[in-house]
Amino acid sequence: MADLLVHFASAYVAGRPLRDGRVRAIVYFGVCLPDLLFKTLLYAGHAPTWLCEPTHSPLGLLPFCYAGALLFEEAWRKRAFWALLGGSWLHLLLDLGKNHLGQGVILWAFPFSMDAVELGWYHPEDSPLLMLPALALIGLVELTGRLSARRPASP
Ligand SMILES: [Zn+2]
Repeated sequence: MADLLVHFASAYVAGRPLRDGRVRAIVYFGVCLPDLLFKTLLYAGHAPTWLCEPTHSPLGLLPFCYAGALLFEEAWRKRAFWALLGGSWLHLLLDLGKNHLGQGVILWAFPFSMDAVELGWYHPEDSPLLMLPALALIGLVELTGRLSARRPASP
């Protein structure tokens, strides 16, 4: 849960400047997509871990985002695809900083290599400590957005 909040905060910062609320909502969903896919395949599908890991690779996410974009009407598919992919890649950037027991989880070169990388800046159990800063960041971005929207146009 805490991890999802931190991911959402990153999407909120990236998505808040977007004027189109629908694209913004798709980016928010896209930032959750890699973990939703991983956990759905692992727990609901009882898939082996090696089959779930491509959900945390830039190229491995392409078919999932493409399939997700097909759920939208034709005029929206291209925008939906890029919004899903952008959100998903943002998720990968945040996960790249984690320490997954020194093994890494991001398969940057999949399908050409199954080597996983990580930067090891924080541990997954540190996520609850990041909840308050994430909430503060969401509040700060929202406040800044509202204040700049109120500002009268300069002459
Ligand atoms: Zn993840």
